[in-house]
Amino acid sequence: MTESEEEFDVVVIGAGPAGYVAAIRCAQLGLSTACVDDWQDEQGNARLGGTCLNVGCIPSKALLESSEKFEECKHSVSEYGVLINEVSFDVATMQARKNNIVKELTSGIEQLFKANKITRITGRAFIQTANQLEISGSQDKQNIAAKHIIIATGSSPAAIESAVLTDNVIVDSSGALAFEEVPEKICVVGAGVIGLELGSVWRRLGSEVVVLEAQQEFLGIADQQIAREAQRQFKKQGLDIRLNARLISSELKNDKLEIHFKEAEKEQQLSADKMIVAVGRTPNIDKIWDPSLEILLDERGFINVNQQCETNVPGIYAIGDVVRGPMLAHKGSEEGMMVAGLIAGNHCALNYDLIPSVVYTDPEIAWVGKTEQQLKASGIRYNAGAFPFAASGRAKAMGKTSGQVKILADAESDRILGVHIIGPQASELIAQAVISMELSASSEDLAMMIFAHPSLSEAVHEAALAVSGSAIHAVSRKRKN
Ligand code: NAD
Repeated sequence: MTESEEEFDVVVIGAGPAGYVAAIRCAQLGLSTACVDDWQDEQGNARLGGTCLNVGCIPSKALLESSEKFEECKHSVSEYGVLINEVSFDVATMQARKNNIVKELTSGIEQLFKANKITRITGRAFIQTANQLEISGSQDKQNIAAKHIIIATGSSPAAIESAVLTDNVIVDSSGALAFEEVPEKICVVGAGVIGLELGSVWRRLGSEVVVLEAQQEFLGIADQQIAREAQRQFKKQGLDIRLNARLISSELKNDKLEIHFKEAEKEQQLSADKMIVAVGRTPNIDKIWDPSLEILLDERGFINVNQQCETNVPGIYAIGDVVRGPMLAHKGSEEGMMVAGLIAGNHCALNYDLIPSVVYTDPEIAWVGKTEQQLKASGIRYNAGAFPFAASGRAKAMGKTSGQVKILADAESDRILGVHIIGPQASELIAQAVISMELSASSEDLAMMIFAHPSLSEAVHEAALAVSGSAIHAVSRKRKN
C-alpha cells in the first residue's frame, strides 16, 4: 500500500442484492467498508441495486402488477359485481410507475450506505493483488487497499448466435421491460422464469406470445406435477408454449422478424414484431482480477467457492450470481450476510437446501426443498399430501381457485422434505414452508398448528393434514411413494 492509498477492512465489488447487503452487514459489524459499482442508468447516472433493482426483480414485478390489474378489470372484475364500462391502459404510465419504484428503491440504498458510513465508489474495480484494487471510471484511476475483498459482480443475460440483440426488436430482459408500446406479436426464447414472467406481462396487455423452449420438459426445475398444472393454466391464458423447440435463426425483414426454429425435429417458421431472449444468465467474471491471482473457476465457469463463499485465494470471497447455486437475489443477499459475519470473526453458515424459488406468474408458483422427481431419483420414501385451492373458502371468495399446495414428508420420520405451491400468493405462503423446514418440522407439527380462518394459509395446513390422509375440507387419501 502506498501512503496516499485508502485502506478498508472490506471492499465489496458490486452493489446488487448480494453486494449491497454484504456491504451493509460488514459496516454494521464495525468493519470499514467500501462498495464499488459501475452501474449507470440510460441518462448516465450511477445507480446502486444492480440487476435486481434496476432491470430485474423489482421492475418486472411492477409491470406484472400493472398488467394483472388491467387483466382483472378487463376480464374478471364483473364476476365480483364490479362493473367497469370501459377499460383501457397507458403503457407510459405503467413505465413511469415502474421507473419511480426503481428510483425510490435505489435511492433508498444510497441512504442506507450513508447511514452505515459505507464508502461508495463509482467505477469499475480490478483486483490487482489479494489486497489491492484499481478503480477506473469517469475519474482518474485510483488504487485502494483492502484486507478482504468480496466479488459480487452478478450476471448478464446469456447470448445466442441465432438471436443477436438489435435495438428494441430482439431484446433481452432489460429491453423487454422497457417497451413503450404493446407489440402485436412476441416470440420469447426460453420458457424459464424470465420468459414466463415477461411473456405474461405483454400477453396480459394484448400481445400474442409464442414461447420457444429447447427442453422437452416444461419448467424442469419445478416439481413436475406442479409444472404440468402451470403449463395447462398458461395455455388456457393464451401463452403458446412450444417445447422441444430450438431457435435456428431470426432475421428482420420489412419491420417483421422472420423466425426459423426446429420443433421436435420439424422445421417451423413464424413471424413476430419483437423477440425476447431469455435463455439464462452468465456470471460477470470478465476482467475482474489479474490472472496472476489464479482465482479458480468451477466446471460451469462460475467462481469456485466453498460453503463459506471463500475462493481459493485467502481473503477473497465471491457471492451471488458469480458462484454456484440458483441465481436468486435472496440467495446472494444471504451469502453476503454470511461472508460479512465470517470476516468479522463470527460463526456463520447458510442452509443451501432451503432456498425458496418463486415464479411470479398468475397463478404464482413457489417451492422449497425437494421435488417428487428428486426424491424418487434418490430413492427416498415419502408421503405426499395435497390440498386444492378450489376447496379453500378464502380462495373462493377471492376468485382465485386454481392450484394447490403439496407437501412431501419423509415416510419414516414425517419430516417435511419439500413444499410446492401453485396458486394465489404462493410467493408469500412459501415462507411458512421455509420456516417449518428450517425448524425441522414434521407434517404432523404443521397439521397441529392453528391457522386463521378464512385464509389462504389454511391450504398449507390442510396439505399437512393430507399427508396422513386426514384433510378436512377435501377427500384426501394417504399417498405413499
Ligand atoms: P432460466 O435458466 O430460468 O431459463 C432459460 C430457459 O431457456 C431454459 O429453460 C432453457 O432450456 C431455455 N433455452 C436455452 N437456450 C435456448 C434456445 N436456444 N432455444 C430455446 N430455449 C432455450 O433463465 P432465465 O429465465 O433467463 O433467468 C435467468 C436467471 O434469473 C435464472 O437463474 C432465474 O432463476 C433468475 N430469475 C429469477 C426470477 C425469480 O426469482 N422470480 C425472475 C427472473 C430471473
